[in-house]
Amino acid sequence: MSNYPQLSLLIGGHAVSSGRETIDVLDPATGEAIAALPRATADDLDTALANAQAGFATWRTTGADEREAVLRKAAGLIRERSKDIGAAITREQGKPHKEAIGEVIYCAMLLEFYAGECKRLYGKTLVRPDGQRVEVRHEPVGPVAGFSAWNFPALNVMRKIGGPLAAGCSVIVKPSEETPAGGLAMVQAMLDAGVPGDVCQAVFGVPAEISEHLMGSPVIRKITFTGSTAVGKQLAKLAAENLQRATLELGGHGPVLVFNDADIDKALDTMAAAKFRNAGQVCVSPTRFLVEEDVFERFRDGFVERAKAVKVGNGMDTDTQMGPMASERGPDGIQKKIADAREHGAKLLAGGERIGNQGFFHQPTVLSEVPTDAAIMNDEPFGPVAIINPMSGYDAMVGEANRLPYGLAAYAWTQDAKRKMRLASEIEAGMIALNGGTVSAADAPFGGVKWSGYGLEDGADGVAACLVSKTVHESA
Ligand code: NAD
Repeated sequence: MSNYPQLSLLIGGHAVSSGRETIDVLDPATGEAIAALPRATADDLDTALANAQAGFATWRTTGADEREAVLRKAAGLIRERSKDIGAAITREQGKPHKEAIGEVIYCAMLLEFYAGECKRLYGKTLVRPDGQRVEVRHEPVGPVAGFSAWNFPALNVMRKIGGPLAAGCSVIVKPSEETPAGGLAMVQAMLDAGVPGDVCQAVFGVPAEISEHLMGSPVIRKITFTGSTAVGKQLAKLAAENLQRATLELGGHGPVLVFNDADIDKALDTMAAAKFRNAGQVCVSPTRFLVEEDVFERFRDGFVERAKAVKVGNGMDTDTQMGPMASERGPDGIQKKIADAREHGAKLLAGGERIGNQGFFHQPTVLSEVPTDAAIMNDEPFGPVAIINPMSGYDAMVGEANRLPYGLAAYAWTQDAKRKMRLASEIEAGMIALNGGTVSAADAPFGGVKWSGYGLEDGADGVAACLVSKTVHESA
């Protein structure tokens, strides 16, 4: 088992830890503490805010070439360090090491894309008679505060810092206290590559206290959050008080529409892998499988077979396909939702239990014929549970897909070209995969609609979200 790194706050380019209260970080495979994470004091937060203000003044005027070069260098460092960063992620979060390395490499890809965007922050000149000029400039919004969740310790943080830094903003990020090392490694790579210490900083503490403190300051001009809809709504209210812009990447409840003309074997292989990736703790996880009646039994049985075959174990074991859930809340919450679904008449076809008495392991689980009034049909499962229901016809399937207030990712399997076009326009989601399992790419916008939040990350939109426009009217 690899060493877990020393943890600290990163304020003004300095690792700060001594004399601070600490929070234990647990290994979800054992439930045991593996490190002590320092908590920022109010003074630490004020120092970080003052730094962010000073850092913004210099970074916003740093040339695009230089910003691009520094961000590309950081991406290179992240690639070089991917195996070790991946091991730290596995230890604090549980996902298989291979999956964790993939997460880290995706961070590098995203940062490489963002680096290129530094030179594509074009303004425009409006048509006017000779002697007059109207110029629209895009400028960085100002210091950004980012708050991220534990399910992707590195990627969630990269999404919080990459766009702002490319746009010319300074950023203070609070990675999850449960999984700090992955995010700290992203910030450290930025610093090692030459991002000034007052431009990219990391703090930890009691989440609500940190966000209230940072967002209460006029220094912060934008916030960006990944986590639950409940917390997203609280932060949106706080942001409104200071009229801070907000990007909110919140929960989902991904519908998967499987029509009778679909390539069922491909759908099964793709969607079962997507379902159990990161033990289902993924905001774009496929959750509600809505399967046309005439292919329902074949799909259900194939899915159950694949769920039973998933190898669950410590993420550092090379043959592990699914690790433990990230915290005690995971299996506890799933157990309650499974019990509630069964009370409502759902059939349990695979799994359903916690595994062992050590760590936070849970069996890959399949429920079928789950009524819409069961909690799991309405609240994001955020765990290794697939719900497979028979449905009859396009309208019922799309109606169920759009029934919930969430709209993050959706998946559909069909060969019919006209139906694909209708699905693309009629499903209420930020991202739709047709005949596939991928809904994100470094150059593609990522974000939801309805209660899944607003604002975008990734792609050119992830940088544009950190810019404001200024119009300069010049007369002769
Ligand atoms: P949560 O929203 O309470 O916490 C998510 C992250 O937000 C944590 O890392 C936490 O430190 C941070 N956070 C919490 N309160 C905060 C605050 N007031 N200010 C700033 N940061 C704050 O979610 P949870 O309890 O960890 O999980 C509950 C549910 O949230 C999950 O079951 C899932 O539905 C959803 N969730 C979604 C995502 C996602 O990727 N969109 C990630 C994690 C959790």
